[in-house]
Amino acid sequence: MKKKKSIIIAVSAASLLCLAIAVYSAILPKKTSVDFFSMNTYITVSAEGKDSPAACEEIQKLVNNLDSGVLSRQSEESEISAINSGGGKMSEGMRRYISDMLGIYEASEGAFDFALGSVSDLWGFGNEPHLPADAEIKAALKKSGAGKISINGDEIAANGAVIDFGAAGKGIALDEIKSLLNSMKIKNAVVSVGGSILLYGEKDFTVGIRNPEGNPGSYIMTVSTPAAFVSTSGSYEQNFEENGKIYHHILNPETGYPVQNELVSVTVVSDNGLASDALSTACFVLGAEKGMKFAEKYGCEVIFVDSDKKVTVSDGIKDSVKLTDNSYSFAE
Ligand code: ADP
Ligand code: MG
Repeated sequence: MKKKKSIIIAVSAASLLCLAIAVYSAILPKKTSVDFFSMNTYITVSAEGKDSPAACEEIQKLVNNLDSGVLSRQSEESEISAINSGGGKMSEGMRRYISDMLGIYEASEGAFDFALGSVSDLWGFGNEPHLPADAEIKAALKKSGAGKISINGDEIAANGAVIDFGAAGKGIALDEIKSLLNSMKIKNAVVSVGGSILLYGEKDFTVGIRNPEGNPGSYIMTVSTPAAFVSTSGSYEQNFEENGKIYHHILNPETGYPVQNELVSVTVVSDNGLASDALSTACFVLGAEKGMKFAEKYGCEVIFVDSDKKVTVSDGIKDSVKLTDNSYSFAE
């Protein structure tokens, strides 16, 4: 009698084990990737988990709709085009984006200025870049700046300034993508929108920071981090040469001309996509010394690379940054 019972237990234990294996293989994560072009840049998605094929599809829809319907100045149907040509009521999303960007504009004392659209247009970046006449820059600058924007509840007026998401839109897209992934069964994901990346999931990630002098695939250091947003702004990203001088696309809001300082790239690590994108631009404008203090105030980590190939890293990620190109070294 006793013997019989133990056989039953053994059998049920074996079937349980089989069941466990079946369940385990059913929940083994799937991995799916997709690349596409949107927001004037290349976007790559790699996701792991049961919902990864759906996530890749949904992310494409989300980014295309956000670009053409909300953020893009090139799209006539976008919310920002309507705001720039007169103002009006903001959607809930737009209200949040503008309020966060105004906060960064004020805290950076105008270094991050998202209403320089008319000045950027004069330089023709993304189109036909060229050196504009000084008088044109001065005239456009007078009408520009986030300080011109007035907000009353959910009503906004740009008052002649042209709002531009060039320096924060990629981060905004990544914030929205993170919310989408939170609603799906996704274990890990890496999404890159131009120079901004979302690292999503429980594991530790390692990302390469691009070589300012090399081709887009080569990097000069790696950063290891748990889930975060990582954005890089660099003067190498969009530039042109005229009369023996190089002009790039990150503008000094005080002059309307490209920022001229010691920096070639700034990388910001943050738990917020908009902040990582906007602060990489703001810290570039501020320079390493002021930029370091500013990033600290925002609880972000930051890496500055200067034209002498010196690398300055904030304390919080010092041990996570490894230089992989021996022509670069840490600043003293
Ligand atoms: P990228 O678009 O190459 O990732 P950034 O995030 O630094 O680089 O954004 C640069 C873009 O932001 C420019 O192309 C321009 O549209 C806009 N811009 C330029 N200067 C500023 C500035 N000081 N503050 C905010 N936006 C800026
Ligand atoms: Mg930026």
